[in-house]
Amino acid sequence: MHTIGHFVGGSQVAGRSGRTTPVFNPATGEQSAEVALASAEEVGAAVAAARAAFPAWAATPPLRRARILNKFLRLLEERIDELAAVITAEHGKVLSDAKGEIQRGMEVVEFATGAPQLLKGEITENVGTRVDSHSLRQPLGVVAGITPFNFPAMVPMWMFPVALACGNCFVLKPSERDPSAALVMAEWLKEAGLPDGVFTVVQGDKEAVDALLHHPDISAVSFVGSTPIAKYIYETAARTGKRAQCLGGAKNHMVVMPDADMDQAVDALMGAAYGSAGERCMAISVAVPIGEETADRLIEKLVPKVRALKVGPGTDPEAEMGPLVTAQHRDKVKGYIDRGVAEGAELVVDGRGLTLQGYENGYFVGGTLFDRVTPEMTIYKEEIFGPVLAVARAADYETAARMINEHEFGNGTAIFTRDGDAAREFAHQIQVGMVGINVPIPVPMAFHSFGGWKASLFGDHHMHGPEGVRFYTRLKTITTRWPTGIRAGAEFVMPTMR
Ligand code: NAD
Repeated sequence: MHTIGHFVGGSQVAGRSGRTTPVFNPATGEQSAEVALASAEEVGAAVAAARAAFPAWAATPPLRRARILNKFLRLLEERIDELAAVITAEHGKVLSDAKGEIQRGMEVVEFATGAPQLLKGEITENVGTRVDSHSLRQPLGVVAGITPFNFPAMVPMWMFPVALACGNCFVLKPSERDPSAALVMAEWLKEAGLPDGVFTVVQGDKEAVDALLHHPDISAVSFVGSTPIAKYIYETAARTGKRAQCLGGAKNHMVVMPDADMDQAVDALMGAAYGSAGERCMAISVAVPIGEETADRLIEKLVPKVRALKVGPGTDPEAEMGPLVTAQHRDKVKGYIDRGVAEGAELVVDGRGLTLQGYENGYFVGGTLFDRVTPEMTIYKEEIFGPVLAVARAADYETAARMINEHEFGNGTAIFTRDGDAAREFAHQIQVGMVGINVPIPVPMAFHSFGGWKASLFGDHHMHGPEGVRFYTRLKTITTRWPTGIRAGAEFVMPTMR
């Protein structure tokens, strides 16, 4: 059995803790490898290697750092199929979707290649007579990223290209469910010319995460994953004096107004609810049609499409949706469907019984559709993270907006309408970080920043874009006076502008 290890000091190293966990192919249910789980001591050694690499990397001109990222970008472009295959084999998502996530990650690399421009500071001549001030942004040191299973390439790329461009060393702790993509990216960064120690991968679980959180040489932590862990990471980082941005779970609503183009709305819902088997933090999991008539039209058009969803292994080019990531997660999703039925929601399409010939042991759940879901139900309140769409009918727009605003999560949301006034009102007052108007999954592009509100994000900074640059740098302001600007004699009062 192949054991997936770490990447420290510029090369792959085997785990020494003696602890491992299995990695599965979700389409077949077979174990494909095991992954090493780092001990606190191994994390310490990895951070020490990163720390040693920091001074030279921080002193490397931003333009040279950008050129390395540019080379990395070209390697990603040339080898996208190779990385997509690695993702599909461990995550299960269809290959076209795996390529899509790499593409979105590459856009962040592209943004980070603008490092010389992004790191330009500010200067004011004559803040006082013959006194000048300038502000600049310096790297933090060694920073860590802890990432979820659902985007093994894209979510790390929300973080490390910007962190590296800003002159930090980066330690990635990927999800133990799909650990290989991180190692592929580490190898390609090295090939692109990244000095040893600047990018590190430690595989592991809570033990490795806690070691990073308590390590004095880790200056900042970026986290993406479920809300309870996001909160834990944020609180622990605050206690250990680290900067933190922790993105959590989601329950994204899409409002369908009576005047929406129903065919467009239904197509948008299909992709947004069932793409990647619903294992996306920006998936739409609740559709909110306004009025009974709109709801009836929506259900009528949705049902045949949900029934016709092509489910298959990620390597099947015909498949629209692959399996769930693990057997446990599949059972959890099925448990939510059971719960929805028990709590009185109307199960219109049931994906629990799906089996695929030749893939009987794969972790498949078919597309599932509930109607007449209400805010008290568990399937409305909690994140299911599977191919389950809940239709929650609302009598009017105000009710829909209140439901969204009162929900625990505030990651993404969308409205489908032709009415500019309604769209503007929605964008203005909705308590959610990322809003789509006739756009079902409003993931900001790399040069904007990604992040939700409420229980979907703990911290002050969103990821990538200008917010990412602020997160991975600290501001220094320098005030300068040369001899001709210096007055004779000691000054004992607060200096004021003269
Ligand atoms: P998870 O919280 O189980 O794991 C995320 C990371 O935390 C992994 O690296 C894991 O090893 C680590 N971890 C798990 N338990 C831990 C513990 N007790 N202590 C310390 N570290 C721990 O999440 P997941 O199942 O991998 O990913 C799915 C979740 O991620 C969903 O809730 C989804 O909404 C969320 N997500 C959010 C966004 C966003 O942008 N807000 C994006 C992608 C995924």
